[in-house]
Amino acid sequence: HAKEKRNRSSFFTDYLKQKTLYKQRLLNDLQVAIDEQQFFLVYQPQFNLTAMQLTSFEALIRWQHPELGQVTPDDFIPLTESSQLIIPLGEWVLQQACEDALHWPESINVAVNVSAIQLEYSDFGEAIENTIRSTGLARKRLELELTESSIMNNSERNMAILEAFRASGGRIAIDDFGTGFSSFSYLHSFPLDKLKIDRSFIQLLSAELGDNSAMTIVNSIVKLGIALELQVTAEGIETEAQHQHLKSLECQLGQGYFYAKPMTAAQLHTFIPNSTSQ
Ligand code: C2E
Ligand code: CA
Ligand code: CA
Ligand code: CA
Repeated sequence: HAKEKRNRSSFFTDYLKQKTLYKQRLLNDLQVAIDEQQFFLVYQPQFNLTAMQLTSFEALIRWQHPELGQVTPDDFIPLTESSQLIIPLGEWVLQQACEDALHWPESINVAVNVSAIQLEYSDFGEAIENTIRSTGLARKRLELELTESSIMNNSERNMAILEAFRASGGRIAIDDFGTGFSSFSYLHSFPLDKLKIDRSFIQLLSAELGDNSAMTIVNSIVKLGIALELQVTAEGIETEAQHQHLKSLECQLGQGYFYAKPMTAAQLHTFIPNSTSQ
């Protein structure tokens, strides 16, 4: 029994050690990765669920590590945040995504994830202005996805930046809605266009309509969105049943593997109406 316990704990510490080493390696390699541009963007479409019309592409970052292969953003974004490397990296994402969007029809928006660190510790307003100026992208085509945590900070400075962006035509979405320390107070004070219901709720939507608390939560968020005149996107839709559920709940927008996985910029043309190549 004691031996089994020891084995189990050494298995666990080995696992932790490996994971820590892996993270250390990633952290070490990040600066070089930025300098050598080992990153690229993939795009995942969002659709209007009633007409199944393409409304936007969300930019998602990928790291092609020369030795470790593709590293998931869930592993390296937190490291770029603690080291503040997310600031130059985030500016690159913004610039690249806006450049790519210039190749798409004007009706298709581009959504960019923005870390709370960018907002808090860089001149984010200026980064946006620079990008808009250098790319010439129409502001109304740019949608920033912020998490609740970056909004809850609610500093006057951040508010002013986001308000100015939105007043000049830009769009703002709350990402992972429902998973943070949701507070309804910011919903009426914050300049906002869209709520994105986190994948974790969508995954819990089951086919049976019985006692399903995820269903109630999703339903409530959709209703809240309608009442506040916000758009609502369900992310992480994987099945026909989830798709039907969300349609029946009158959720306007959807995104997920059921429709399309994230694709490279070059692969997008198959999704863009009346387009043969980029
Ligand atoms: P997120 O913003 O919530 O993005 C949605 C994630 O769910 C993406 O993972 C996407 O590929 C994945 N996904 C989409 N549809 C489905 C589905 O049907 N099923 C499942 N299982 N997954 C689905 P990804 O690309 O690995 O990104 C993970 C997170 O990393 C993102 O979550 C976002 O928070 C962060 N991230 C990605 N790119 C950037 C970026 O450029 N800047 C910042 N700050 N964060 C980023
Ligand atoms: Ca997002
Ligand atoms: Ca995010
Ligand atoms: Ca999410």
